[in-house]
Amino acid sequence: MSFETLGLDPALLRAAADRGYATPTAIQREAIPPILQGRDVLGAARTGSGKTAAFALPLLQRLAQQAPQAPRVLRALVLVPTRELAAQVGEAMRGLAQHLPVRPKIAVAFGGVSINPQMMALRGGADVMIATPGRLLDLVDRRALRLSGVSMLVLDEADRLFDLGFADELGRILALLPARRQNLLFSATFPQTIQSLVEAQLHDPVHVESTEEKTAEATILQRAIEVDPARRTQLLRELIEKSGWSRVLVFVATKHASEIVAGKLRKAGVEAEAFHGLLSQRKRTQVLADFKASRVKAVIATDLAARGIDVVQLPVVVNYDLPRSAVDYVHRIGRTGRAGQSGLAVSFVGAATEAHFRLIEKRQGLTVPRERVAGFEPVEAAPPADAGTGGIKGKRPSKKDKLRAAAAAAAASSR
Ligand code: AMP
Repeated sequence: MSFETLGLDPALLRAAADRGYATPTAIQREAIPPILQGRDVLGAARTGSGKTAAFALPLLQRLAQQAPQAPRVLRALVLVPTRELAAQVGEAMRGLAQHLPVRPKIAVAFGGVSINPQMMALRGGADVMIATPGRLLDLVDRRALRLSGVSMLVLDEADRLFDLGFADELGRILALLPARRQNLLFSATFPQTIQSLVEAQLHDPVHVESTEEKTAEATILQRAIEVDPARRTQLLRELIEKSGWSRVLVFVATKHASEIVAGKLRKAGVEAEAFHGLLSQRKRTQVLADFKASRVKAVIATDLAARGIDVVQLPVVVNYDLPRSAVDYVHRIGRTGRAGQSGLAVSFVGAATEAHFRLIEKRQGLTVPRERVAGFEPVEAAPPADAGTGGIKGKRPSKKDKLRAAAAAAAASSR
C-alpha cells in the first residue's frame, strides 16, 4: 500500500517523501484513515513504529481543512512525557507541514529551560502545541495559552506519561479541554491507569496496532557476552574498535557510572559522552545532536535514553549494566533496529547478573547464547543465591529484586 491511497493531501505526501518515507508503516496504514474521518484512535505502538507521522499527517490535514481563525486559537495539543520527545515530535511536525499552502504555527514547550522564549513564541497564538504536561500547565497559569479551543488531543507514549507520575497534571489538563474533541492515544503498553483514561476520555475509539513491531523486534540481533564487571569498559572499548561500530548507545545503571565510563573511553581515544538527567537541557540536546551527526561515537546513558529518543539508524545498543526489568530491556534494545532496519543489542552478563539476565530471557520467551571474548573470559564465581540480583551499583535489593532472586533460585533448582 502506498501513502497516496490513504487520502492525504499532496502537500503532505511531498513532505513525507522529502523525509524519505516511501511506504507507510503498519501503524500509519491503520491509523491515518480513521483519524482523517475524525474518529478517536487508540494505538498500540511505541517509538520506532512510525507513530509520530501516523498522528501528525492526518492531524495536519484536518487543521488545514478548517477555516483559519483570527486571532489564532490553539486547536491541537500533543502531550509527550519527555523533553527530547517534545523536540523530536516538533521537528517532525514542522517538517511534515512545510509544503502546506497555509502552514500552521507549531509551538514546542518543555521544562528544564527558561520559560520566557516559549512565552514569546506563543505571542499571537499557535495552532499546534507539543508539550510536556508540567510546562504546559505553567504556560496556562501564566496566561500564555488557553486550551478551550482544542479540538484534537494526542497523548503520545501514554504509558510513559503515567510512569513519570504525570497523572495529576494530566487530570488538570483534561479538565481544561473542551469535552467535544478528537482523542488520539498511543501507548506501548496498557496498564490499568491507561485503561481508566481510555474509558473516561475516549469516545468509541478505533483500535489500531503496529503489527510490524514484532518483525521489527525480530530484526534485532541479541547477544550476551560473559565478562567480569571490572573488565567491562575495556571490553567495550575493544568491541567499539575491533567491530568498527560507528555509533553505539551504552546503557549503565547510574549517572555516576555514565560519567565514569564516558571519561574512561575518552581517555582511551573514543569520542564518548555521558547522557543523564543531571545534565543541563542544553548539554543533553548537544550530546544528542553530536551523536546524530556522528561527532560522538559512544553515548553512555542512564535509562533516561531508553524511551523516546530516536537516532536514525542506531546500529548498536549495549547493556553495560543490565536493566532492572524485562520491560526496560525491551525499551532499551528497541533503540536499535528502528523502522524495519536491523540492529544489534549486546548485553554484558557477569556471574552476579546471570540469574537476572535469565529472567529477562524468560519474560521474552527466548534464549540468548552466552559468548566469551578472548582475553576477557570471566573468572568471578556467582554470589550466593540470597545476595540479591547484584550488578546494579548503588541500589540495595528492592522487594522486587528479592522476588526475582527467589524466582531465579527456584528456576535454577528445578533445572
Ligand atoms: P517514530 O516511531 O515516529 O519515532 O518513528 C521512527 C522513525 O521512523 C523515525 O526516524 C521516522 O522518521 C521514521 N519513519 C516514520 N515513518 C516512516 C516511513 N513510512 N518510512 C520510513 N521511515 C519512517
